[in-house]
Amino acid sequence: MPATDKSSRQTSIATALLKEGIINEKQLERAIKVQALLEEPRQLTEVIVDLGYAKRTAITDAIAKHGSTMRLGEILLEQGIISSDALETALKVQQEQGLKLGEALIQIGAINERQLLQNIASQARLPYIEPTFSMIETSLLRGVSPEFLAKHDFVPFSKSEDGVITIVVSNLHSDTVKRAADELYQGKAVLALGPEECIKATIEDIRSYRQSGGKEVSSQEQRDTAVNLVEHILSQAVEEGASDIHIEPMTHAVRVRYRIDGVLVYKTDLPSDLLSKLISRLKILAECDIAEHQRHQGGRILFHMGDRSIDMRLSIYVSIHGQSAVLRVLNKDMALVTLDELGMTPSMLQRYRDDVLDPPTGVVLITGPTGSGKTTTLYSSIDYCNDVQTKIITAEDPAEFTIEGIVQCSINDKIGRSFALTLREIVRQDPDIIVLGEIRDKTTADVAIQAALTGHKVYSTFHTEDTIGGLLRLIDMDIETFLISSTVISVLAQRLLRRICLKCAAPYVPNAREVEQVGLSMAEVREYEYKKGRGCTNCSYTGYRGRVAVYELLVLNELVKEAILMKKTAHEIRQISMDTTGLVSMREDGIAKVVKGVTTFEEILSHTPRTFHTRPLRQILTLSQ
Ligand SMILES: [Zn+2]
Repeated sequence: MPATDKSSRQTSIATALLKEGIINEKQLERAIKVQALLEEPRQLTEVIVDLGYAKRTAITDAIAKHGSTMRLGEILLEQGIISSDALETALKVQQEQGLKLGEALIQIGAINERQLLQNIASQARLPYIEPTFSMIETSLLRGVSPEFLAKHDFVPFSKSEDGVITIVVSNLHSDTVKRAADELYQGKAVLALGPEECIKATIEDIRSYRQSGGKEVSSQEQRDTAVNLVEHILSQAVEEGASDIHIEPMTHAVRVRYRIDGVLVYKTDLPSDLLSKLISRLKILAECDIAEHQRHQGGRILFHMGDRSIDMRLSIYVSIHGQSAVLRVLNKDMALVTLDELGMTPSMLQRYRDDVLDPPTGVVLITGPTGSGKTTTLYSSIDYCNDVQTKIITAEDPAEFTIEGIVQCSINDKIGRSFALTLREIVRQDPDIIVLGEIRDKTTADVAIQAALTGHKVYSTFHTEDTIGGLLRLIDMDIETFLISSTVISVLAQRLLRRICLKCAAPYVPNAREVEQVGLSMAEVREYEYKKGRGCTNCSYTGYRGRVAVYELLVLNELVKEAILMKKTAHEIRQISMDTTGLVSMREDGIAKVVKGVTTFEEILSHTPRTFHTRPLRQILTLSQ
C-alpha cells in the first residue's frame, strides 16, 4: 500500500523544502539518516530544525506555500494535530470505505470538523469564520437574495475601510462562488473559510428576517460592524460560560478564543482589517484612550445582556502584530454549593462530615493550586457548620462570597486593616470557628495552630500539590512537629477536571498509552465501558462541558501523626496513609469518575499529580463507593 508508506509521505514536505532552497540535498539525506537512528520517533522537520539546517518559521512558510500540493494527512501530522497511529488507521478506513481522508479522520474521532477547517484555513492563510446573522455587516445584503446566497453557498461578512469585502465559503476550491461574489461586489471580494452548517443557518436567518420584515435592510437598522461584532463576542462568551475572552491579531486574521472550564477554545477568526475598529470599540466601552496605540492599557466594562449586567476587566497589550485584547469575565452569581454537590463519593463525604467537619477543634487545610476549586469547598464546609449556636469569623483576602450569619472580614492593607492586625483581633471575638483565607507564611500558620490549641476549629487553604505536601510544608515553615501532629486533623487536596459533555458522549476505548500512564493495565480497564465527547454545539466542539472536582482526603490517625513526629519522607507518609487511613489519591478518585462516565483519562493526566503507586482498578472502585 503506497499510501501508508511513511517515506513517501515525507517526500512532499522534503520536496517543498528543497524547492524553496531552505535545505540542500545533502542536508536532507543526513536528516533522514539521523531520523532513522532515533529511538523516539520524530518528525523529519523536527530533526531538520534540531540539526540547525532551518528555522521552524521557514518550514511553516514553505508548508503554507506548497500546502495545496501536499496531502492533508501529512500537514496535520506535521502540526502535531493527529498522531501517526491515527493517520495509519484513517488511511485504512479511507481505502476501505472510499472516503476523503478528512472524512475518515473525523469518522475515527482523530479530529473534528471544526479542527479540520481551522487547519485548512490556517494553511491557506485565510481567516476561519463561524458566521451568524448577528455578526454580518447588513449593508452587504442590499440587493442580494437569500436564494442567490443559497445557490452559491456563501455569506458576505464584512467590509473594510477601503471597500474590500470578506465573504465566508465552505469550499475553497469552488471557482463559481468566487466569480459570483466578484460580480456582486465588483471584484472586491476576498475569501474566508467557515463550516457549511453555519453558512446555511445564516442564510436561513437572512431569509426569515426578510420574511418577517419583508423589506430590505434600511439604513437605520444598520449598526456599525465593530459594535455588532463586539456585542456578539461578549454575549456568546457569557452564554458559553467563558472566564476570559482573547482577541489577538495574527498575520492573516484576528483570532477570537474563549477560556472555558480552564481551557482555551478557538471560536472564530475575524478579518484583519477589522482589528483597529474592534479595539477602538472595546476602548470606548472601557473608557480607555482611543488615540493611544503604543502603550498597554486597562479598564472596566459593565456589559448589559438582557436584564443582567456583567462586570468585565479589559486589558490591551501592544504586540508586534498590533493591539491584543483580553477580557476577564467576573462572575458575580457564583452559587453556594452544598456538600452533597461537591462531587465527593458517598463514603468520602461521610468521612468528611463525621471526622473532619463535626469535631469541635483542630486545623483543617484545603489545598491545591489557584483555580482548583478549593474556595468553593471552603465555603460549602463553612456553610455546613453555620448555625445559631456557632460563632464563625473569617479573615479573607478578599471575601469572595457572602454567607448570612457569619462575620466576614476582607483584608485591606491600604487602609491599615492588615492581615497581622486582623489575626491579633480575631481571637478576641470569642469565635468557635475561625476561617483564614489562606496560610501564606509562618505567622498565619502559628495563628492557626495557636487557635486550635486553645480549643478552636480552624479552616484555611494552602498552595501545595497534595495532602502530604501540605503536612511537609508546615514542617518546612519550622513549625514543631508535635504541634502539627496535635492540631492538624485533616488535609483535603483537590483539582478540577472537565466533565464529558452529556449531549455528545459516545462509547470509547481508551488507548494503551494513557491507561499505562495513569498506572493501570489494559486487561483490568477492558472490563468496563468508557465514554468521551465527540464535540457538539453544546460544548464548543471540545467534548467537555462543566467541571467536576477530584479529591484526596487525608484524615490523620495515630500512625500518620507518629510518622510526622519522626519526620519521615513524603513517600513513607503517603504509604502509611494509603495503608492505614484509606487515603484515595486524586488520580484514583479521578479513575473512579472515568469508570462512571464523568470524565476521561486524558483529563486525569493533564490535571492530577503523578503518584508512584496506583491500586488495582477493582480495589479503587471498592474504595470509591
Ligand atoms: Zn458536546
